[in-house]
Amino acid sequence: MIYFLDIKGINAQYREELRVAFDRVLDSGWLIMGSELKSFEEEFAAFCGVKHAIGVANGLDALTLIIKAYKELGIFADGDEIIVPANTYIASILSVSANDLTPVLVEPDILSYNIDPRLIEAAITPRTRAILPVHLYGRLCDMEPIMAIAGKYNLKVIEDCAQSQGAQLSDGRRAGQLGDAAGFSFYPGKNLGALGDAGLVTTGDDALAGCIRALLNYGSHVKYRNLYKGVNSRLDELQAALLSVKLKNLDEQNKRRKAVARRYIEGIKNPKIVIPEPGGEGTHVWHLFVIRSEDRDGLQEYLKAKGIQTVIHYPIPPHRQEAYRELQGLIFPISEQIHREVLSLPMSPVLKDEEVSYIIDVLNNY
Ligand SMILES: *Cc1c(COP(=O)(O)O)cnc(C)c1O
Repeated sequence: MIYFLDIKGINAQYREELRVAFDRVLDSGWLIMGSELKSFEEEFAAFCGVKHAIGVANGLDALTLIIKAYKELGIFADGDEIIVPANTYIASILSVSANDLTPVLVEPDILSYNIDPRLIEAAITPRTRAILPVHLYGRLCDMEPIMAIAGKYNLKVIEDCAQSQGAQLSDGRRAGQLGDAAGFSFYPGKNLGALGDAGLVTTGDDALAGCIRALLNYGSHVKYRNLYKGVNSRLDELQAALLSVKLKNLDEQNKRRKAVARRYIEGIKNPKIVIPEPGGEGTHVWHLFVIRSEDRDGLQEYLKAKGIQTVIHYPIPPHRQEAYRELQGLIFPISEQIHREVLSLPMSPVLKDEEVSYIIDVLNNY
């Protein structure tokens, strides 16, 4: 069986270094809010070219805390609206509703699967405060028009970088550096994955960074003094130490994903299968390699019978989820088509050449 994602194999590349990092934390006796977190934050800030990187407990918290901080700073208020893509993982949208703001869904571009900038302006109302572009599947959104619209209407831009660690524009700017603030997830299956849950916020905004640092630690800015009604969303020393090991190799790992994607794109030739658009050089880090087929479920069964495991990202769009009953009357034909047709092929930096060749052959014989 060729697995969709070999997490064990990915982490095995770092076995010795991870053990050294683990021993360092074990021997230090310092497990929360220490030097490992500080180092990882500095390394990640430098990697992304941003002033502040703030470790948090997971990717959903990263996004939720950005919005909560904007509320504490008086920039957002209950009932304000944030524009989000209709085609995304539900966590992007949960961060908005968790703060008692209203998500306003906008259709994707069928070529990029990301939010269609041409449709954003029509969704803006007097209560719109932000746009939350999601660099889905690892591909950067078309940020230039998004930033132009945000400038015109004085909106914040919050990037969801959970799937796009390391993605880069041709001018060198990275995901996490393109808006006002960004949320990252280091869930084990992401391009940079912890050995458990972890997340991070990047921003160039000093006030926002200070507020988030307090919020994630019970709202405390100075020990035993609390400015805000905060939460506990700390990134622990052990995960920070393990992430530092893997961050050094992220660009190299993304390069291998790109090589796999290039082979898929050049090799898969079947009129029943739509292959993804790569976008500009470097702008796609191939968290997922997502194909489309009108007979998606049949194709998945066929691949399974041939020993190839695939996953659907995602089977049910957020506006069709029971959790969002209030959105169920809405119709988003492009998002719905994507959710009906997509299938994610095996993709990872440790996928072997012969496995890629086999998958291409099997797809071309479908
Ligand atoms: C994984 C993911 C999240 C949530 O990250 P967690 O660390 O699992 O909380 C948010 N948005 C997107 C697009 C994701 O893929």
